[in-house]
Amino acid sequence: MDEEVKQLNKLRNNSRDKKWIKSQQNWTWIITISWMLIANLWPPFGLYGFVCMLTPIIIALSGRGKMSCARICPRGSFIGKFTKAFSGNRVMPSWMHSKRFKFILWAIMMGTFIGLMFWAVPKGVYTLGKTILYFMEAATLIAFITGIIFKPRSWCIICPMGFSAGNIRDIIIKKNR
Ligand code: SF4
Repeated sequence: MDEEVKQLNKLRNNSRDKKWIKSQQNWTWIITISWMLIANLWPPFGLYGFVCMLTPIIIALSGRGKMSCARICPRGSFIGKFTKAFSGNRVMPSWMHSKRFKFILWAIMMGTFIGLMFWAVPKGVYTLGKTILYFMEAATLIAFITGIIFKPRSWCIICPMGFSAGNIRDIIIKKNR
């Protein structure tokens, strides 16, 4: 079992070592703020939220694991930067680190999002844009509160998109063994 974990970690490190860009997270929070401001004024721009959601998945599918989380993600950058000053810096309880909890949260958020999409898509681009924006604003607020209660980037431990990207990475690693 230990050998298996060691091998998995080695493969994970190899996937991290693949050539890629340096971390951009010292500035990508600007994307989160700009997107929210523009989309609140012009709702169709809310559709850009799909780019934020799909980027970690596409990068994980390319075999680069969670590099989007580590180096790009505008929301990760945003919560990391703006919760630092207020964060209680507490460690998340161990049950929140469990796969079961992450999966339940993933299922709730994905289920809600899919349900909202069924409702919003037939109503046109304005409603769709607003729906994506409000959904992601709510998720960002939860991420922000999590960062205040626990450590600044604690949300990234349970985030459904990070969880999906991590699972894709692990499936690719297992397939390549
Ligand atoms: S875990 Fe979620 S919020 Fe954190 S960096 Fe990854 S996609 Fe962004």
